[in-house]
Amino acid sequence: MISTVLTNIGELTTQDHERPLTDAAVVVEGSRIAWVGPAVEAPAADEQVDAGGRAVIPGFVDSHSHLVFAGDRAAEFAARMAGEPYAAGGIRTTVAATRAASDEQLTSHVARLVAEMRAQGTTTVEIKSGYGLSVHDEARSLAVARQFTEETTFLGAHVVPADTDPSAYVDLVTGPMLEACAPHARWIDAFCEDGAFDADQARTVLQAGAAVGLRGRLHANQLTYGEGVRLAAELGLTAVDHCTYLTDADVAALADSGTIATLLPGVEFSTRHPYPDARRLLDAGVTVALASDCNPGSSFTSSVPFCIAIAVREMGMTPAEALWAATAGGARALGRDDVGVIAPGRRADLVLLDAPSAVHLAYRPGVPLVAGVWQAGRPAAVTG
Ligand SMILES: [Zn+2]
Repeated sequence: MISTVLTNIGELTTQDHERPLTDAAVVVEGSRIAWVGPAVEAPAADEQVDAGGRAVIPGFVDSHSHLVFAGDRAAEFAARMAGEPYAAGGIRTTVAATRAASDEQLTSHVARLVAEMRAQGTTTVEIKSGYGLSVHDEARSLAVARQFTEETTFLGAHVVPADTDPSAYVDLVTGPMLEACAPHARWIDAFCEDGAFDADQARTVLQAGAAVGLRGRLHANQLTYGEGVRLAAELGLTAVDHCTYLTDADVAALADSGTIATLLPGVEFSTRHPYPDARRLLDAGVTVALASDCNPGSSFTSSVPFCIAIAVREMGMTPAEALWAATAGGARALGRDDVGVIAPGRRADLVLLDAPSAVHLAYRPGVPLVAGVWQAGRPAAVTG
């Protein structure tokens, strides 16, 4: 097995230590991290990479994305920026384009987006279905997603298709569609929102998924106050995502349950809704993750650094909290303990920043700072 020492790291954020290490080194053996510590104490290795005094962080864990789709909704975005409201029904436009696309078209589109993410430091990504909304199209969406990640999520309950009775559709999602999709999925999800699915329907979907071994996560409280966050806490879901409109009871339920609140600020950026209040959640003891929610309607960004910059500027997070939420926090939101942290035995997912510290991710918003990415020990998207 080839070993590599990444040395002369000016600032190493491990998420395994109280604060970043300085003048540090990391030894990688095969796909795993073998050693972390001061550069002067680093053991010998077959190969050496000099970080040149720059910062190294764990690869981002983007725990929420919708990459399997076709079509473009730039005109809808432009209309929204001209004052038209965002409604959940816009998803149906993407459904029509996705159904019309071939498997090859969907696969190459996902490949392009995953590469785009990796070049910006993302080394673990969750991908949902949800633009097929038929047994055939949901199952093939998940089969496409599975080629890129083991973190696949069945989101048949994204929106009720046009001209379909809602309760008949829930029966389809929890019956034949679940049966066809479960072999390709690790998670089940529902969009609990006005215009999508109510809390009772979401509960039915999540319980049906649990019965066949899928773990639950939920889209909730994105556009309005509602029951979704409390449902997620009650069911003990790993994560509930969006959490933009929260009552004090919702925040208390999250703190008590340990369900992770995944905040998706790309959505509020793209819909001009108010940003979720990360500070309020953190101060209440809620674990917060940050993710891109990359999708063609409400958040067409693949950039976790962009989300970190917004979280720091608009959501009350410190740069260190936002970075934790996008690495170790994302890993927790996926129930993973092998990624999001740089420590011996973990997967060697590392990002070299063209900056002396990780604070630059928020301090220099919009600037491409990722100089190198290692995914499971393999160099990927290294640019200098
Ligand atoms: Zn989403």
